[in-house]
Amino acid sequence: MKKTILSGMRPTGKLHLGNLEGALRQWIALQDEYNCFWMIADWHALTTGYENAREIKDNVIQVAVDFLSAGLDPEKSAIFRQSAVKEHAELHLLFSMITPTPWLIRNPTIKEQAREMGLIGGEGEEEMVKINYGLLGYPVLQAADILIYKADFVPVGKDQLSHLEITREIARRFNYLYKPIFPEPQPIIGEYPLILGIDGRKMSKSYDNCIFISDSPDVIRRKIANMFTDPQRIYRSDPGHPEECPVFLYQQIYNQSASAQIKEDCKNAKIGCVDCKRICAEALIERLAPIRAKREELERTPSLLTEILQEGARKAREVASRTMEEVREAIGAW
Ligand code: SF4
Repeated sequence: MKKTILSGMRPTGKLHLGNLEGALRQWIALQDEYNCFWMIADWHALTTGYENAREIKDNVIQVAVDFLSAGLDPEKSAIFRQSAVKEHAELHLLFSMITPTPWLIRNPTIKEQAREMGLIGGEGEEEMVKINYGLLGYPVLQAADILIYKADFVPVGKDQLSHLEITREIARRFNYLYKPIFPEPQPIIGEYPLILGIDGRKMSKSYDNCIFISDSPDVIRRKIANMFTDPQRIYRSDPGHPEECPVFLYQQIYNQSASAQIKEDCKNAKIGCVDCKRICAEALIERLAPIRAKREELERTPSLLTEILQEGARKAREVASRTMEEVREAIGAW
């Protein structure tokens, strides 16, 4: 029997290289060995983006195309949109009845999100009364996403560990109060290369420094040509410090076989940044070529995308509705 995995992303826009190297590559590697559910968390996107709700519709499509073109395989896994499986909402509601508020008020990831949105100022937990109920309940909805498929493992970034802790606490509490039907899901934290943005900071949409999976070759060339390099290397004749250069990080990932030579040549001022960047851009463009080809194929057949998401939701619903029957029976109120 294959073990089960669920993970998800909020549809906040096109996916970038950080998402690709940090999450998608790992998901793709897992899809053969596990029974996988890959979810586009559109309800979660509303917890922070309720004012721009109309953008979510397009973003779901963008993310679905990015998922499929990167190599998630709908034959192997269920790829679906959260709101297409209403059972998540029912389980979230039932979990909310047994979740003590202090578990949520203490959650550092929600606090950070609220701070980023400018909703709260200080560090204190009393600040959390200022945020919306939906955002406070974010980890409860996430627990429902995971437990409704009885997932054994959840591949996520480190920032999600506090959410997963709440998932396990809710599972334990439900199992104790009613009936032991839920596993206690464990995280899978991947080892992945650091992807910096074109300005040398962490790649993030809020910094406007991303290279997107869907960027055209010309856009990639332009973005890399404008990238920050070793700040100490001012003239072509200055020796460079590749370990302090974000372009070199890309060379190590996308042009691995040549990177040792480039490192030497940079240190000895034998290669200039313009040439180095040109080589780097072409290597990245080549690496993204299969993804670009699949994207073009999907764009030619838009109905295929809808069908894939519908089929994914059907597979997910099959499992989710069975779990909900067990849950209702365990609680015993119906
Ligand atoms: Fe960076 Fe390449 Fe310039 Fe060296 S040659 S500083 S690695 S861009």
